[in-house]
Amino acid sequence: MFNQSRRNLARWFTLSMGSILVLFAGVIYQIEVQDKREAIDRLLLDKTRIIAASVHYDVRQHQTAIDLTNVPLLGSGSHPLAEDLIYVRWYNVQGRLVRFFGVAPAYQLNTPPGYQTIQPTDPLLQHHRWLRQITLPVGGRTGTLGYLQVATPLTETHNQLQELQLALTLAVPIALGFIGLTGWLLSGIAMQPIRRSYQQLQRFTADASHELRSPLSAILTNAQVGLMLASAEAQFQPPLENIVESAKSMGALVNNLLLLARHPGKLAPESLKLLTLNPFLAEIVAQFMELAAVQGVQLSYEPPEQAVQIWADPDLLRQVIENLLSNACKYTSTGGSVRLRLIPHPGWAVVQVTDTGIGIPETDLPYIFDRFYRVDTARSLDSGGFGLGLAIVQQIVQAHRGQIHVTSVVGQGSTFQVELPLKLPVS
Ligand code: ADP
Repeated sequence: MFNQSRRNLARWFTLSMGSILVLFAGVIYQIEVQDKREAIDRLLLDKTRIIAASVHYDVRQHQTAIDLTNVPLLGSGSHPLAEDLIYVRWYNVQGRLVRFFGVAPAYQLNTPPGYQTIQPTDPLLQHHRWLRQITLPVGGRTGTLGYLQVATPLTETHNQLQELQLALTLAVPIALGFIGLTGWLLSGIAMQPIRRSYQQLQRFTADASHELRSPLSAILTNAQVGLMLASAEAQFQPPLENIVESAKSMGALVNNLLLLARHPGKLAPESLKLLTLNPFLAEIVAQFMELAAVQGVQLSYEPPEQAVQIWADPDLLRQVIENLLSNACKYTSTGGSVRLRLIPHPGWAVVQVTDTGIGIPETDLPYIFDRFYRVDTARSLDSGGFGLGLAIVQQIVQAHRGQIHVTSVVGQGSTFQVELPLKLPVS
């Protein structure tokens, strides 16, 4: 129970902190991408503006021209202006190509003014996976003179971003591991006071139940002696019989509480024995034959042909089967049937108790394993139950690292299925 709560706490802590971390890493990456793009765009615009300063109107040719003689050889890296420029293209105002440096461009301008990120199709540029291109309208006194198109490679930026991505991809799982470990340690610390107070409560219940047993057995013995002594006095019989019944019922309750408090989910390794379930269950069923016959219920047992062996505490396991069979007989009316089946599964032994009794409403099913929960107080009181039987069953099954499931239809009956591991249930 505590380990499960601790695991849940640690899981939720890791999940929430992990989500924040992943979100944070994503935001950092996006900010870096944005920063780099803005820096590249600014530099590209500055360089394009410098080049645009050499655009003039050629009176002899009656068209705009660009003087690039002062612009050093592109891509040579010998001048800061030419560094990292892949091509420069000058288009006139009609969008027709006038002059260019770099690879041969389209004759007609085919991109709108502004920035574009493009994948070059020209084989000469294919070693650059991505280019950032600007198409800048250049204006003169008479209006727009033409369009200057300049491109720079994004390879360097791409590599840097990929490195950042790789660093984040490695750092996030490592950080998640640390977060998980911290969560596990923190949840352990958080669970400590709860565990302590639960243990105190268990100890108190165990001590109180233990202390109550002696006075209860004294009451029972005295009442029984009183019954014998007063056998001739008819008026004393009913109250004395009441005392005997109440003392027996309280004794059963105290024993159940003691059982719940003493086995809070752990089994002592020395109490475990290798048990062959086939004869073990047959013996319990034989004990119940008389009770079933008195109630007019047909009780049957279906063992498999092969022997099924598990490691279990025989006394506790007996309590599980007895509680389930007792409930099945109790809540099945005359003429009905109760069937116990043992089904071997790979790694598991499955024990099924099926009855054709009154069944359990669907709304009550999630709670029937809770302590002191009774489906219908009237019918449970009739049958003298305290609502502890199934809580004990579940606790014992879980202590054996097993599971219990129930299916039921009101008016048709119920099936309780216990699944127990074949291997040693202590970890
Ligand atoms: P109780 O001692 O009251 O029987 P349990 O913990 O054994 O307490 O069972 C809890 C409740 O589940 C019971 O009050 C009963 O209403 C219901 N219940 C348990 N087993 C059966 C069954 N086989 N058929 C119908 N109802 C059942």
